[in-house]
Amino acid sequence: MIAVEIEKKLKAYNGLQVLRIKKTFLPGGITRITGPSGAGKTTLLKMIAGLISPDSGIIKTNDTNWFDASQKTNLPPQQRRVGFVFQDYALFPNMTVKQHLEYATVDAEWITRLLTIGGLETFTTHKPDHLSGGQQQRLAIMRALAIKPKLLLMDEPFSALDLKMKSALITDLQVLFTELGTTTLIVSHNPQELDGVSGDELEIG
Ligand code: ADP
Repeated sequence: MIAVEIEKKLKAYNGLQVLRIKKTFLPGGITRITGPSGAGKTTLLKMIAGLISPDSGIIKTNDTNWFDASQKTNLPPQQRRVGFVFQDYALFPNMTVKQHLEYATVDAEWITRLLTIGGLETFTTHKPDHLSGGQQQRLAIMRALAIKPKLLLMDEPFSALDLKMKSALITDLQVLFTELGTTTLIVSHNPQELDGVSGDELEIG
């Protein structure tokens, strides 16, 4: 379980807007986060990951307070150990596909499995420059999963994938999520993005 009750002033070019979120994400579930561009979807994920601080409120899991403004608690991202798939992938230009995964885990069997699910087995020695957009995006997803996160935050994670690739990947990912008991939050501007996935929805903005 992760419970979020926070406020954050968003500094937009056209003035201030306050993002207010109150939501409990159930363990092992998938929640799609929707809303117009600029509503604060990415900012919400970054606050949960610890990359941006809310102005007030609480972010807590079953046993730990990650953020509590009144107690001045603010766990650094390394201690939250969430998996994060960034919208722009944030890959390391000088690392190969395999090195990206080895950076996150020493479990060779797990790496092999992720490479297979990501359709990246034959690209293990390639650096991001030599991958297609879809391959880069799948690498970003597999890297986030390498740490077997209890919480996975994904920002428009399927935008570069064609329909067939996307639905095959979503099927495989759901098996992994169940196995790991991962709670997953997926930011998506496209309401049809997760058709076929049973999950919750949080609309913001
Ligand atoms: P979305 O993902 O829904 O398109 P974003 O979260 O990227 O929206 O951005 C929402 C608004 O928040 C933007 O106007 C942006 O300028 C602002 N913003 C982004 N980061 C911060 C921050 N650290 N502090 C305050 N405002 C921010």
